[in-house]
Amino acid sequence: MKKRVYSGIRATGRLHLGNYLGAVKGMLALQDYYDCIFSVVDLHTITVPYDPKTLKQSVREIVLDYLAAGLDPQKCHLEIQSKVPQHTELAYLLSTIYPVSRLEDLPTYKEKRAQYPKYVNMGLLYYPVLMAADILLYKAEVVPAGADQEPHIEVTREIARKFNSMFGNTFPQTERFETEGQYVPALTGQGKMSKSLEGSFINLTDDLETIRKRLASAPTDSGTLSGQIPKEGGVANLFMLLKLFESDSVYNKFEQDYREGKIRYSEMKNVLAEAIYNELKPFQEKRMEFKENSELVDSILDTSLAECHRMSEETMREVREKMGLR
Ligand code: ADP
Repeated sequence: MKKRVYSGIRATGRLHLGNYLGAVKGMLALQDYYDCIFSVVDLHTITVPYDPKTLKQSVREIVLDYLAAGLDPQKCHLEIQSKVPQHTELAYLLSTIYPVSRLEDLPTYKEKRAQYPKYVNMGLLYYPVLMAADILLYKAEVVPAGADQEPHIEVTREIARKFNSMFGNTFPQTERFETEGQYVPALTGQGKMSKSLEGSFINLTDDLETIRKRLASAPTDSGTLSGQIPKEGGVANLFMLLKLFESDSVYNKFEQDYREGKIRYSEMKNVLAEAIYNELKPFQEKRMEFKENSELVDSILDTSLAECHRMSEETMREVREKMGLR
């Protein structure tokens, strides 16, 4: 049997370069070789403030993004998390063997608490358990995801080990699949690029003008005395993006300009904007085609859903039995 791969993205907004480079590129690399399930994790989406009227549309947008980016329904299964109720059933069962104190210590929980102090709900604390259930429901051994997800994948491994020791060998030890862009910094110069942080991102659907504008507001400096590119902050981030999207020769030219103190950031940002747009253009064209063909997208989702139900029920039968629930 082929190894299983699972990954999901929340429907909190349009996909950005961080999601693309950190997660989707990994999904694309793996879909040719493994049995893959790629999800729109709408149950994770609702742990932060959201609008129920637009959630369904947001989920659809991510499905379109997935297809346009090249996830191929002939090679992988596309899942909408809430349509496979086994996720929440397994999450509850796994929550009974995992300590609350460990969840309270996780960095993402602390960050979200600080970001939404009036919205600290049980679901937010529970997030890593649901994520473990997402992965283990399919017994996935590999998860293509950004570096920010590493602590959650560690939780998944801990839960799997605990379950195996209590109820017998059932779940694998999951590893994260790292891409070159596993950590894409925010354009603001601080932290990671994120859908929920205004001014931090470039969306995959942005046109050239929008990309230019977003880059224009990214902070820079007025040169350097040491001649070394800084390790963090606005300038470091621009160089990192340049490395991901441009050829070595273009990168080296700007690096030399920087060292010699003659860098022109407006020129660098323009070159970068065009390089990013050139990579996104075929994606945007393909997205249009899928957007205009709703029936095709619906039928892809229906076929995938049936397969996801079958796979997840297989695991759940085993889990219920081992836990004495049947
Ligand atoms: P966001 O934080 O933008 O809402 P999600 O939490 O939905 O994104 O994450 C979806 C996937 O994208 C995860 O695999 C996550 O690790 C990856 N990801 C998100 N932001 C970045 C980033 N800035 N750099 C690399 N990968 C990222």
